[in-house]
Amino acid sequence: MPGSESYLVVGGCGFLGRHIVEQLLARGETQVSVFDIVQRHFDSNVTFYIGDIAKPEDVTNALKKSNATAVIHTASPAHGGKPEIYELVNVTGTRNIIDCCLDLGVKKLVYTSSAGVIYDGAMDIVSVDERLPYPTKPLDAYNRTKAEAEKMVLDANSEELATCALRPAGIFGPGDRQMINGFYQVIQNNQTRFQIGDNLNVYDFTYVGNVAYAHLLAVDKLDQRYPYMSFREPIASIDMSLG
Ligand code: NAD
Repeated sequence: MPGSESYLVVGGCGFLGRHIVEQLLARGETQVSVFDIVQRHFDSNVTFYIGDIAKPEDVTNALKKSNATAVIHTASPAHGGKPEIYELVNVTGTRNIIDCCLDLGVKKLVYTSSAGVIYDGAMDIVSVDERLPYPTKPLDAYNRTKAEAEKMVLDANSEELATCALRPAGIFGPGDRQMINGFYQVIQNNQTRFQIGDNLNVYDFTYVGNVAYAHLLAVDKLDQRYPYMSFREPIASIDMSLG
């Protein structure tokens, strides 16, 4: 029921985070706060806490002052950074969020993971589900640290704190600061004359409004207290054929 929960959207000034904030407000939520390292939006009905998730005191401050009962954690550095920044924000930062949620009695935590957590850059992934194990050699530091953060969030699922992780692939839509910009730079740099492979690769893209809506559904459904399911256990056969 709108108004019964107090939401803190971590990374709420980012592309996806902003859509989550807007959808929460659009359905009539009255307690919506944002925690981000920069402020890019200014709403009279949203409280913004500016800080760094890598600093436990900043996280504690935002969680305490917002009286959050549900945290939606979308913050991450963009692609193309140094490994240290991913370690700091994705791993240390997510650890801080989990610990502060537990300390302060937050009931729900939804984490934006990434489809990249199961991709090693070498093998096509076709017809698999969440039971596919993490790769032994992650593609890069971004994917490795997103996987580490995801594992921590799922392992924290308990009677005290109900958690969930979502794995979007490519996200497109209004406010995108990475994907179309990247495509545009490729065109500007005349890098479209080259073809690597047979040009038959497929990739998933999801509209940002749908990804944001999935986060709202996840945070709502966490009320239902599903038992912990370890989908990381290997399954007998997974169809990894090219298709
Ligand atoms: P974004 O860069 O637009 O938003 C991320 C937000 O996190 C930004 O507002 C940024 O300021 C904030 N942030 C970064 N470091 C922080 C820190 N140390 N403390 C506090 N805030 C910090 O990115 P996005 O595209 O909206 O991505 C959101 C989430 O979705 C990320 O977790 C990303 O890994 C995941 N994801 C994105 C895509 C995509 O195609 N955009 C695909 C799969 C997964």
